[in-house]
Amino acid sequence: MKLFVHGREGVDELSALSDERVLYCGLRHGVQLPYECGIGKCGTCTAVLLSGDVRSRWPQAPGYERIRPERHEILMCQSVMETDVHIKVRPAIKPPAPLPVPEVLEGEIANQKLLNDLVVAFDYRLSRPISFLAGQFISVSTDAVCGFRAYSMTNFSDGPTDRLSFVVKNVPDGEFTDWLFDKNHDGETLVGFGPLGRAVYSSQIDGDFIAMAGGTGIAGIIAILKNASLHGHLERYKAQVVFGLNRIEDVFYLESLNAYGAMHPTLRVMVTLVDDDGVDSLQSRFPKLEFARGFLHEASAEWLRELTEVSVAFLAGPPPAVNASLKMLVGEKKISARKIRFDKFG
Ligand SMILES: Cc1cc2nc3c(=O)[nH]c(=O)nc-3n(C[C@H](O)[C@H](O)[C@H](O)COP(=O)(O)OP(=O)(O)OC[C@H]3O[C@@H](n4cnc5c(N)ncnc54)[C@H](O)[C@@H]3O)c2cc1C
Repeated sequence: MKLFVHGREGVDELSALSDERVLYCGLRHGVQLPYECGIGKCGTCTAVLLSGDVRSRWPQAPGYERIRPERHEILMCQSVMETDVHIKVRPAIKPPAPLPVPEVLEGEIANQKLLNDLVVAFDYRLSRPISFLAGQFISVSTDAVCGFRAYSMTNFSDGPTDRLSFVVKNVPDGEFTDWLFDKNHDGETLVGFGPLGRAVYSSQIDGDFIAMAGGTGIAGIIAILKNASLHGHLERYKAQVVFGLNRIEDVFYLESLNAYGAMHPTLRVMVTLVDDDGVDSLQSRFPKLEFARGFLHEASAEWLRELTEVSVAFLAGPPPAVNASLKMLVGEKKISARKIRFDKFG
């Protein structure tokens, strides 16, 4: 089956795999299509269906709230082609760096372990290596649960790698996380698609940077710190990282952040907790971290004044946290929106 993508530059004629989502087909061929989450939540990947038939894999997806059916709009991430299809798309946001072309992934879960009662880490061992940039994510799916879920890699590699690492937070009554947390799934198969996402760290970045993460948004930020640390960026420049959490029970990854703080005097890390019970005990355990009470964008606003010339800011996490942080960075810190790279986890 063929997918014809009509854009400003002309028409791309692409061959689709069986049951392939329109979004994934286009991205796999290197076509720049608009998207954010790639899994049905955000509604960014709309296109106008010019001709042909598509079937939705998940008609209840929240992203459909942004669709105007009277204009023949479809959600590309949920649409599977039933005939040859022609779509018209608006231009995608230009990526900040050349990005690897995403592909269909196959592999299995390995090294699954609990980091605390609410957070699991696991590796995805791929059947063949891929390249990705620090800060990117993939979508994954198992036969046991309907649909894809997106997860950010916590690792990074300068060359192709067959190991992707993730941290996943348990979501009450969440289908995928209920399945994942139920038992150890080492050896079980996942299919995936990626790498995805534009909130990437790349070697072209020169200068001080800010990174702000809400909850599991820290996954991609950890990969960015690893990359910046290994490539000497933190020897030449300063960085400020803000990690926002709700409660002390949600705390994870502080050992790694504390270790990066100890390794790089240029790096300051602030952990914000909405509910501050127990912060004193954390401060004595993690002396290189700074703690503050409140929502991440409010608790860190004054603290972030230290860096006056910011070359880039990375944001990742739930949409309310990312939106509020964006507003603060642009409105109060006067950072140009062009310098801000973000991924919303919803
Ligand atoms: C860019 C991005 C990166 C992310 N990175 C991380 C990360 O590193 N760590 C982390 O813990 N979380 C991350 N998330 C959140 C993660 O993708 C899941 O939303 C979360 O784990 C909850 O999944 P769940 O199935 O348990 O919850 P649910 O509430 O059951 O489902 C969550 C989402 O899954 C999809 N979905 C649900 N039901 C269906 C269905 N029937 N058919 C098709 N799709 C369905 C929808 O998109 C839904 O909103 C990220 C999200 C995004 C968008």
